Amino acid sequence: PPPAIICVGMAGIISSTPDRSSGKTTFMQRLNAHLHAQKQPPYIINLDPAVKTVPFARNIDIRDSVNYKEVMKQYNLGPNGGIMTCLNLFATKVDQVIGILEKRASSINSILVDTPGQIECFVWSASGAIITDAIASGFPTVIAYIIDTPRTKAPATFMSNMLYACSILYKTKLPMILVFNKTDAQDAGFAEEWMTDFQAFQKALQEEEGNDDGIGGSGYMASLLNSMSLMLDEFYKHLDLVAVSAMTGAGIGDFMKAVEGKCLEYEKDYKPEMEKSR
Ligand code: GDP
Ligand code: MG
Repeated sequence: PPPAIICVGMAGIISSTPDRSSGKTTFMQRLNAHLHAQKQPPYIINLDPAVKTVPFARNIDIRDSVNYKEVMKQYNLGPNGGIMTCLNLFATKVDQVIGILEKRASSINSILVDTPGQIECFVWSASGAIITDAIASGFPTVIAYIIDTPRTKAPATFMSNMLYACSILYKTKLPMILVFNKTDAQDAGFAEEWMTDFQAFQKALQEEEGNDDGIGGSGYMASLLNSMSLMLDEFYKHLDLVAVSAMTGAGIGDFMKAVEGKCLEYEKDYKPEMEKSR
């Protein structure tokens, strides 16, 4: 069966500043172009009901079956409630979607899934889990966690981003690739260093903490940060890191290589676990 790649990533902290988003859609667009150029066109699923324009052709689009604006109006919901309700409605039809995928599986090279801008709506909702599990039980599935590299340069931000990725790994129990995006604007070398050398990361954290509020090498904060960076060190062992620019296309080939590796892991480690817990 073809691999499925589910793209998740933080939205902009403030929804009125969309440029602060991690770049899921741009990444998918670039991946789509890359796969088309290789004559391996992907099968694309859009699960973001709130997106206005999607810059690539979709095979399945949540917007074809639910109308976000109407749902908000009809059920008197805010933006997040609207997304959740759309996902719930879509989840009731997930069997049909899987049916379509299974019927086409032999002619599909890969499945790309774009998720709502508000990552929580997908990752922590029952319907998000239902959709993810349905895909993952039929296809070798990889989570691509997209990161806005320029905005994760501060050690504390970096750590909270990694802790979030860790919680998603724990929730989905699927192989994960950390995709450091926007490397045209900021090189991801610092992230590679911090993920392979936790002492370098601790040093960076201490320097940052020491800067303005005087939290130095002792006290509860230092001890907490120490334990967390040790925990993260273990977490990193289970991940692949790739540096890409969705804008220029740099690193997209590396990403696809990482997907191949993760698919083997899926067959070997994740699938047996999944079948055990069912
Ligand atoms: P999404 O909300 O996660 O789907 O993010 P989008 O794909 O809509 O991108 C959010 C913003 O980041 C947009 O302004 C993009 O132009 C920008 N962006 C995405 N990828 C890159 C990249 O590789 N480099 C740069 N410099 N900007 C990017
Ligand atoms: Mg998007």
